[in-house]
Amino acid sequence: MRTTVVLRDPAPVVPLRCTVTAATGVIEARDVVKVFVARSERRRRRAFLALHDVNLAIQQGRFVSFVGPSGCGKSTLLNMVAGLIRPTEGAVHYKGRAVDGINTDVGYITQDDNLLPWRTLLENVEVALEFRRVGPEERRDRAHRYIGRVGLDGFEHHYPHELSGGMRKRVALIRTLIYEPDVILMDEPFGPLDAQTRVILQDELLRLWEGTGKTIVFVTHDLVEAIALSDEIVLFSRAPGTIKHVYPVPLPRPRDVFRIHADPQFPAFYERLWRDLKEEISIVDLEGAVHGNR
Ligand code: ADP
Ligand code: MG
Repeated sequence: MRTTVVLRDPAPVVPLRCTVTAATGVIEARDVVKVFVARSERRRRRAFLALHDVNLAIQQGRFVSFVGPSGCGKSTLLNMVAGLIRPTEGAVHYKGRAVDGINTDVGYITQDDNLLPWRTLLENVEVALEFRRVGPEERRDRAHRYIGRVGLDGFEHHYPHELSGGMRKRVALIRTLIYEPDVILMDEPFGPLDAQTRVILQDELLRLWEGTGKTIVFVTHDLVEAIALSDEIVLFSRAPGTIKHVYPVPLPRPRDVFRIHADPQFPAFYERLWRDLKEEISIVDLEGAVHGNR
């Protein structure tokens, strides 16, 4: 079945032809289009086409990374899965139902750790269980277990300002993992950290995730990180974003993130991914400010 979506309001944008696919998955984007409306200097409304013709199915239990140039709509698509924003056209489905409002079923970890400064590490880890009315004893047991798994024992009563960036990130990670959401969205979670801490956290994340059957959707700018962690890598085109290609990662599991470059499959796969990404980035650089589309 083919449908043509023509967007006219509030300002003319390119007409789009969308193809309906029969993909299935825990998360499905079907013919997703997103137009943001912003006010320009002279207070005129201006439409900005952020995503178009996005069709994607993510299977339960997979680790999937989104890569692509800045501003191509990666965070926008995650926000749609979380129900924070709605598509202009098309739909995002979660477990077979169109997301319509906040999706409390998914865990969401962003670049900011958003720890509560007035609560200790232990109390921060417990917070999601409190919301879910888990009793105090079980809360404490589970929190201690997760704190131990990321090597933070002994720091339970420290406040966020007394922790390093890597430690805060670990708290943000286990604070979400502790309530065991089926799907975890991670938007450049390790972005602000130094290279060494990043790799250690990648390793901890893989060890926490492996064998759980949980689905992770992970946004990153770092191709090596995407390869080290993922089953599949989704490459977005330059803005207005669409999916350019989905690559199965050919490296076997379990992975040694510290020596990922040494995997015989790594160099050729990295080269292919970088070549395809570079095409999108260089076009942006050449054309400047994303087509003047802002
Ligand atoms: P990415 O995460 O790939 O860097 P985003 O999804 O954050 O990109 O943004 C895609 C485009 O949509 C960007 O050009 C951004 O400026 C624009 N955008 C995102 N959110 C909004 C919003 N709420 N209002 C207007 N424009 C937005
Ligand atoms: Mg983003």
